Amino acid sequence: MSVQAASARLAPRADGTPPALVLDGVTKRYGAVVGASALELTAGPGELVTLIGPSGCGKSTTLRLIAGLERPDEGTIRIAGEVVADGRRFQEPERRRVGLVFQDHALFPHLTVAKNVAFGLDGLPRAARRARVGEVLDLVRLGHLAGRYPHELSGGEQQRVALARALAPRPAVVLLDEPFSSLDESLRAQVRRDTVATLRETGTTGVLVTHDQTEALSVGHRVVVMRDGVIEQADVPEKVFEQPATRFVASFMGDADFLPAHVHRALLTCEIGVVSTVPGWGGSDVDVDVVLRPHEVALDPDPGATARVSAVEYHGAFVLHHVRLASGRTLRSWQPHNVRLPVGTAVTVTVAAGTTPTLLIGDTAVTSPPAAATGASG
Ligand code: ADP
Ligand code: MG
Repeated sequence: MSVQAASARLAPRADGTPPALVLDGVTKRYGAVVGASALELTAGPGELVTLIGPSGCGKSTTLRLIAGLERPDEGTIRIAGEVVADGRRFQEPERRRVGLVFQDHALFPHLTVAKNVAFGLDGLPRAARRARVGEVLDLVRLGHLAGRYPHELSGGEQQRVALARALAPRPAVVLLDEPFSSLDESLRAQVRRDTVATLRETGTTGVLVTHDQTEALSVGHRVVVMRDGVIEQADVPEKVFEQPATRFVASFMGDADFLPAHVHRALLTCEIGVVSTVPGWGGSDVDVDVVLRPHEVALDPDPGATARVSAVEYHGAFVLHHVRLASGRTLRSWQPHNVRLPVGTAVTVTVAAGTTPTLLIGDTAVTSPPAAATGASG
């Protein structure tokens, strides 16, 4: 498998500032279960990394390792240049420069907003503590609610208190584990925007766990996709979506259909015809699978065509058309909101101009022809 995590590491900054967070070969086992396996991850100062994957893939384990709530079996964790865990050393959570925000906010119900936020500031003199509490409450626009108790706040306000509490001690990294999951849909987008804006405003490095693909792509400077404890891909959102490293990433991060295809003399063809040219593959003659996303698939009603619209789903802004090809395989195509082809319509299927589809050999994306497939013909 081509794991791209290493290639996505940030170069050291010219000013010598160490990365806020480095995981190097970090593995955590729970008996026979591997919670996290050989994780490689670097987050630069101010970077927001989103961590996504199916339930049980190791997202929370990764955050717990960074926070010091779990000990790694192997590997090294550094926070702001300092080793906090390796084969010999283990720094306790309260001594690590991390802030935590969980889905359930975990506020102390018997303490006011101000006291909740002051909780991690024990080390400060009283006046400095009060000043810092005021500062972070202003930052999340909750200064006027300092005297309230958690049950007197809305879900969104509670979430902002949790963020203020996490930021108060000026952590090097804030870890957020599905922080918006308990909020309803309408509130979610606003709280997410506020949270991201606050992290940016304070230049805080964040690792945000989500199970929402759109959230991962829209707020992350970098997206880390995990599966079975392993990082499958770590890259900027555009790369993860447009150049998925594996079949799993292609299908997990957005809708994707797969068709058997063939590259010969730099032409990619499959059941629907020529898909595109593949520069650099002139000498190859090789079977691949092509990944097609619904926004890349164009439909044209044509009584002579063999493909048929098999289902239509109205999504509001777009209408998703399922198309059954002559082989029995199906593709999906996004059409504008005002296009709705009746089920049974015969359609010609093409790939939108300018598409550079991902090619897979087995479960791995390939960008250059395999050595064995070149030179034999052409
Ligand atoms: P995610 O947050 O991505 O849903 P987790 O990190 O919670 O996944 O879990 C990863 C894997 O490790 C799962 O198989 C889970 O059952 C297992 N696991 C997590 N915590 C423990 C634990 N304390 N003891 C045993 N197994 C655990
Ligand atoms: Mg979890």
